[in-house]
Amino acid sequence: MKIVVCASEVVPFAKTGGLADVAGALPLALEERGDDCIVIMPKYKSILDSKFRIQRLKEDVSYATIGKDIKVYFIENDVYFNRDGLYGEKTGDYKDNLDRFAFYCRRALALLKEIGFKPDIIHVHDWQACLVPVYLKTLYANDFFYKATRTILTIHNIGYQGLFDKGEFPKLGLDWSVFNIEGLEYYDRINILKGGMVFADVVTTVSPTYAKEIQTREFGFGLEGVLNKRRNSVYGILNGLDYNIWNPETDKFIARNFSAKNLAGKAKCREELEEIFKLPKRKDVPLFGIVSRLAEQKGFDILAEGIDEICHMDLQLVILGTGDLKYHLIMEDMAKKYPHVISLALKFDDPLAHKIYAGSDLFLMPSKYEPCGLGQLISLRYGTIPLVFKTGGLADTVNKNNGFVFDKYSSDELIKTIKKSIAAYQDKRKWGALVKKAMEYDFSWEESAKHYLNLYAKAKGKK
Ligand code: ADP
Repeated sequence: MKIVVCASEVVPFAKTGGLADVAGALPLALEERGDDCIVIMPKYKSILDSKFRIQRLKEDVSYATIGKDIKVYFIENDVYFNRDGLYGEKTGDYKDNLDRFAFYCRRALALLKEIGFKPDIIHVHDWQACLVPVYLKTLYANDFFYKATRTILTIHNIGYQGLFDKGEFPKLGLDWSVFNIEGLEYYDRINILKGGMVFADVVTTVSPTYAKEIQTREFGFGLEGVLNKRRNSVYGILNGLDYNIWNPETDKFIARNFSAKNLAGKAKCREELEEIFKLPKRKDVPLFGIVSRLAEQKGFDILAEGIDEICHMDLQLVILGTGDLKYHLIMEDMAKKYPHVISLALKFDDPLAHKIYAGSDLFLMPSKYEPCGLGQLISLRYGTIPLVFKTGGLADTVNKNNGFVFDKYSSDELIKTIKKSIAAYQDKRKWGALVKKAMEYDFSWEESAKHYLNLYAKAKGKK
């Protein structure tokens, strides 16, 4: 099958979160299975030609190769993409995000015709790529080139919808007839994700539980009704992990490699982590790691509420992440107050993330909602036991056999579960068995790629 992946961030070129991991790994898994896949993304300032051996195709399009022969095409536009951030900077989102991503989607569709790549499937991810299915079913509705093309939208987080003022609608080049409740309109504003959900042939999200949750009022962020209408075309497919990138046996970023059979290197990784974070070397207490956006979605509200009490427990805690200023300040306060217990790195730092996954004993991920979550999958792979709230992809991947789970979202429950895990850590024999078992779980792309291919085939059958 000929497949195009459209995503606004793709590993290894640009990443702010799990979307990039998925958009980078899925094409590799598809190629492995014999499919013909290409990727199209914007060319941001941070994507350096020399680093990625980028070659020129056209005046405004360049490309690099990943896997054996997957072309990643970069849509260039200095005005829109030659900026420090992907979606915004410290002061907030870029004001012209609608223009930027509408441009990207239109250019992507024009490019496919120019290079003669007639796709069976265009797989778009999140709101930034959602205008692709919208344009296909409107501007390109009678275009012979795209007659057999079907689209799949994967929603990585329904909380991010691409909402814009109605006044911006003419910029999209669409007829006003699609600005209605059956189309892109949402309470008199433009909702780009909704457009994707309405116009894509199939809609998926990144775990079976989240697929159910977002059809309810509690998790749907106002779009549950749209999903309900399409419930026969909505699927939940768990993300896989790129086991070449996330592999404790070969990871180049960590102090010493290790495996389930030989865990000695993990202790070394922990020592290095304590050094980096200037914490005392204490094998007697568990070291908890967090790699996350500092946001309420990731559980920082209940964490902030309980953090003082948590810092009094027999543990160490390292946090890597950026996000809401409010949580930066609370955590900084704690790190000043309890410098031997909690230490922070408030930045985005991929090598350091690897070191935390490898060197921690437990991975704290009490997300309020979690579409899939990669942090818990990565930590399992590194024998770092996840402690999670039972929601979305966390509920689908963590249970009492490989981690610690609480099912009432509150600071008290979080604290109780941390205490339980600290007690469990003291039984070294049992703990060792838990670590080994955690490392045996398989969350590679194999299964997920199979599911996607089945869906592609199903979508192809749709008129
Ligand atoms: P999100 O909702 O942010 O996409 P996921 O758990 O799906 O959450 O994926 C987050 C990805 O981003 C993981 O690969 C994680 O390791 C990475 N990540 C998050 N914050 C940081 C950071 N500050 N530095 C490095 N990597 C990070």
